Amino acid sequence: YYNHNSLIFLNGKMVKANESVTDLYSQTLHYGYGVFEGIRAYKTESGTQVFKAEAHYERLKKSCELVKIPFNWSVSELVEATYQVLKANNLSDAYVRPLVFCSPNMSLTRPNEVSVMICAWEWGAYLGDKQLRLTLSSYCRPHPRSLHVEAKVCGHYVNSILATTEAKDNGYDEALLLDCDGYLAEGPGANLFFEKDGILYTPKLGNILPGITRATVLELADKFGFEVQQGSYTPEDLWEADSAFYCGTAAEIIGIESVDEITFRKDWNNSLGKQLQEAYSKLVRETTKVSRQ
Ligand code: PMP
Repeated sequence: YYNHNSLIFLNGKMVKANESVTDLYSQTLHYGYGVFEGIRAYKTESGTQVFKAEAHYERLKKSCELVKIPFNWSVSELVEATYQVLKANNLSDAYVRPLVFCSPNMSLTRPNEVSVMICAWEWGAYLGDKQLRLTLSSYCRPHPRSLHVEAKVCGHYVNSILATTEAKDNGYDEALLLDCDGYLAEGPGANLFFEKDGILYTPKLGNILPGITRATVLELADKFGFEVQQGSYTPEDLWEADSAFYCGTAAEIIGIESVDEITFRKDWNNSLGKQLQEAYSKLVRETTKVSRQ
């Protein structure tokens, strides 16, 4: 996805990827102290639309606030910049990656100055389009009293990389992580839902990233009249489920075939998840406003 000639938004200017530099003494590089977002743009009948762009930049702002990184941009400025990046790189179906990173500072004090960059690239289905074979990770999600787990902080993703690497090394597609109390939490980059006797269940907020796709799924489920419960669930609850899925901006909605040796009994094509998957795919390509391109 990296193209040397691509154009990146950096602190208000468009710069070439191969001409942009970052300081090697950045706190983000050394300590993982930075925040980011993952957004998707879709081709619609009236041009490119960035799905839930405002919600993503609101979360970026919230992430900065939680970890005390100064954030001086407005949401609307960054939404505008996102459309600029897409247009400059001639992208429509694309993944957008904003990153707020720190200036040189080798101390452990918060920075006074930060940079924001937005890049984008064409990216197909992140976890593929087959159903996933998961494994319960030996890593748990970060403890909410150690870090702000609801912030999308760069350093938190060491946990995600460790869990994904372990899962793949053991021959699985993806990991499933528990929280520090042993309840179901989420995937390394997606939220979890499961279906049992016609009801949907999802881990409650608190120990997970408040996914924007999770919120969209809750809206769609409400529209369909599906009952959804949010709570603390154990791996045993999941093993007894009829079906399950992951959701996230990059992954969209993707069915889960199995967790370790337990295979879900319901055919994905007959699950509530499948209906939500189709509705989500339609929703993101709906024309909601006049095209910006
Ligand atoms: N959990 C984690 C740990 C994630 O990294 C992501 C991806 N941002 C999600 C859940 C899903 O969030 P969203 O739907 O906002 O992409």
